[in-house]
Order: sequence, then C-alpha cells, then structure tokens
Amino acid sequence: MQEGSLILPFGIMELGVFVFGTIIGSFLTVCIYRLPREQSIVTPRSACPACGQNIPWYDNVPVLSFMLLGGRCRKCRSSIPYRYPIVELVNGVGYVAILWRVGWGWPALAYGVFFSALLIITWIDWDYLMIPDAITLPGIILGVLCSLWILPVGFVNSLLGVIVGGGVLLAMAWISPFLFGKEGLGGGDIKLLAMVGAFLGWQLALATLMIASILGALVGVGLIAVSAMKRGQYMPFGPYLALGALISLLFGPEIMAWYLGVIQ
Ligand SMILES: [Zn+2]
Repeated sequence: MQEGSLILPFGIMELGVFVFGTIIGSFLTVCIYRLPREQSIVTPRSACPACGQNIPWYDNVPVLSFMLLGGRCRKCRSSIPYRYPIVELVNGVGYVAILWRVGWGWPALAYGVFFSALLIITWIDWDYLMIPDAITLPGIILGVLCSLWILPVGFVNSLLGVIVGGGVLLAMAWISPFLFGKEGLGGGDIKLLAMVGAFLGWQLALATLMIASILGALVGVGLIAVSAMKRGQYMPFGPYLALGALISLLFGPEIMAWYLGVIQ
C-alpha cells in the first residue's frame, strides 16, 4: 500500500460487505420459505405469513427490523421466526470470512454465491429433509462456468469435481441398501456434493465428504447418547455436507497441504 493514497480502513470495507451480506441474506430467507412450497421467489412482495400484511421496506431491514420490532409482526404481533435474523447474520459473516480468505475480486463473488447456496440448502434440508434441485443444478453449472474464467480450481478439476463428488455418493447410495439394508442418501445429497466439486475441485469434494461424515457421525452419536434421536432415525446429511464444504472452502490450502504431507 502506498503512503498517502486514499484507502479506507479495512474495517469499514468489511462492514460494507457484512451489510451487503445481510441484505442478500434477507433474500435468502424468502427462498428458504418459498422454494419448498414451490412458490415464486420474485413475486409477490414479502408478507406476514400470519396476517397477510405486506411488509414495508422499513420493517424489512436485515437484522435491525427484527430487533426493533421485538421479533413480532407490526400489525398482528405474531412472532417472526428467529431464522430470519440468523440467516441474515450468518450470510453477512460468511461473506466477510470469504473476503478475509480470498480477498477482493471475482473469486470472492463466486464463492459468495456458493456460500449462500449452501446456507439455503442447509436450512431447507434441516426442515424438509430435501435439497432443492432449483439450487444444486444451477449451482453445478455456475461452478463449472466460473471455473473457466474466475475460479482458481480450473475447468478440468471442476469437471472432475462434479464427476467424483456426485459419483462417490451415487455409488454409496447404490451400495448402502445392500450393506445397511436401508436407503442411506438422497439424490439431493449427490447433486449437492457434485456442486461442491464444481466450485472446489475433486480433492476438496472428497475432503468435504470426509469432514461431513465425521461431523454427522459425532452429532448422530451425541444425539443418540442424550436420547434426542433414536437409533436408525433419519438425519439430514445436507447440513453436514454444507458445513464440510464451508470448511473446505475456507481452509482448502491447509487441507491440501496436510493431505499431500500424509500421502508422501
Ligand atoms: Zn402479521
């Protein structure tokens, strides 16, 4: 950085990215509400699900409106789910984390879209035990297209990521009824890991699967231990894949270095 040049303190730029992230996050909450209901995400305008009142812009400011309204609809006072400010906050923090990791530029923008897709998928899979194709299929295409010009992964590795990421889960989904006597994975998980592979490449798609499997097993065993879950009960895998993908996105170089160190 040259001395005397006009550069804003980094904190202010981070704040701008954070605010931008919460605004996009506000749109994500619309997607999370409407996609599983197969409603348009563009029209109509946001309305209170309880009383149908249209939400004016000043009651739709990310995070702040929720706090100012005390978490309730202005008209009918029914409570607004906590997920709204949480999704907005997480999206804002996620964008700052990506900026911190890859710096300004087109890759950060592409990873931001990727991160938001993971966030939507996490929440919808958590609630509905399904991962919408409306996110994963365009995500796969976007990841491969971005790999052509702006993503460091490169086109070949992106394509391999789709094939290996989707293929390994496809194989597991095919084998697991024979091994475990039950369906293990949904088609949504397969397309999700293919999308991860498109953005991060085949090595980090496998790393994502490994991290997700470990996290899922730990949480599953923990939930069974505290009797919050029954043995054999279905647990959505999408949120773990999404978290694994986030870890792989933020710590990819470290994971790759560790991996190369192990196999040598
Ligand atoms: Zn209302």
